[in-house]
Amino acid sequence: MISRLSTDLHEDIGKILIDEATLAARISELGAQISADYSGKDLMLVGILKGCTLFLADLVRAITVPLSFDFVAVSSYGADTKSSGVVRILKDLDESVESKHVLVVEDIVDTGLTLRLSYLLENLRSRRAASVKVCTLLDKPSRRRVDVTVDYRGFQVEDQFVVGYGLDYQGRYRSLPYVGVLKPEVYGGG
Ligand code: 5GP
Repeated sequence: MISRLSTDLHEDIGKILIDEATLAARISELGAQISADYSGKDLMLVGILKGCTLFLADLVRAITVPLSFDFVAVSSYGADTKSSGVVRILKDLDESVESKHVLVVEDIVDTGLTLRLSYLLENLRSRRAASVKVCTLLDKPSRRRVDVTVDYRGFQVEDQFVVGYGLDYQGRYRSLPYVGVLKPEVYGGG
């Protein structure tokens, strides 16, 4: 439960880690890199809902080669699924990935379990995608439990829970235009 709800989301933020200008500059670089790498290829971005949405919306506008995009939703895992590795696909793609160069877009790669254990990457490859790569806005390598290759990374972050720019805490804070950390009292601590 959120112990104290503020009427202004910004007031719940203890520290801004990545501000809007820094996000925009890095996403512009990623867009240029992806445009160069996928020139002449049939590119399809696959966003993992819901955290990817703000990042994907800005990223596609920074990519200059033709592309399509679609979304998948996977079940978030609890204690059981963390060890068993069972993550279900809740919303599948509407379009076929066959012979397309797929770039999976994530908000943050933390333990790596969502990407690996959802079988998402293997699943996409088995549908005969021409290639499957991963682009994540944030990467927390210190928390990794399974090996996931991140092909494009916006920023590396320390082992702390971040919100904003698509990332939520209990459904809130996704709409913040920057990435930050919450004040401890928002978690009921402090
Ligand atoms: P993984 O499967 O790599 O452990 O976790 C990926 C998912 O966990 C992300 O897509 C995100 O939904 C959630 N997650 C991991 N770390 C954070 C974090 O610091 N903040 C928020 N808001 N979500 C996180």
